[in-house]
Amino acid sequence: MKKIAVIGSGISGISAVFYLNKMNYDVSIYESNNYFGGHTNTQELEIDGVKSPVDTGFLVHNDRNYPNLIDFFNELGIKTFPSEMSFSVMSKSDGITWAGSNLLTIFAQYRNIFSLRFHKFLMEVLRYMVLSKERTTKVSRIYILKILPEPRFASNL
Ligand SMILES: Cc1cc2nc3c(=O)[nH]c(=O)nc-3n(C[C@H](O)[C@H](O)[C@H](O)COP(=O)(O)OP(=O)(O)OC[C@H]3O[C@@H](n4cnc5c(N)ncnc54)[C@H](O)[C@@H]3O)c2cc1C
Repeated sequence: MKKIAVIGSGISGISAVFYLNKMNYDVSIYESNNYFGGHTNTQELEIDGVKSPVDTGFLVHNDRNYPNLIDFFNELGIKTFPSEMSFSVMSKSDGITWAGSNLLTIFAQYRNIFSLRFHKFLMEVLRYMVLSKERTTKVSRIYILKILPEPRFASNL
């Protein structure tokens, strides 16, 4: 039986071990952390006396881009649930509240309705979206970061 060593027990390592083992390889996995999973790790946070589990890695996936992950979940009998993907942030020290879900959440801080700077920032977000769409149709997604410095975005926004 051939021996294989896998370094790291994140989703990549752990799924590789699972399938190599099924193919009858003698697999050993090495992990430098004191837990398995790498970024895929659930921490329990206590805020105002309420304990909540918070995931630090995989939160969302979809069936278009993650066929192998879905097969892996199915093999392990892991349930998934439909979810909405959005981003929100609140920084008390910077006085920033943002959620991109809809206009009400974008203008969660009402004073921003009258802020020229904030409107400029929104225009920059839209410009970024249009540009990324245009450029990603021409080249592979991997180039997104390479092309971003070229069309200058306001650094003070
Ligand atoms: C906050 C957050 C949210 C995310 N949300 C999503 C999401 O919603 N959907 C999504 O698809 N992805 C998401 N990701 C990304 C996803 O979690 C990672 O891409 C994925 O977990 C990476 O897996 P990996 O196995 O490649 O690497 P890792 O999880 O980083 O695992 C690498 C492992 O190798 C170990 N290691 C490294 N060097 C050595 C060594 N020399 N010897 C022994 N062990 C070693 C490390 O300790 C680690 O355990 C998110 C990431 C973060 C941080």
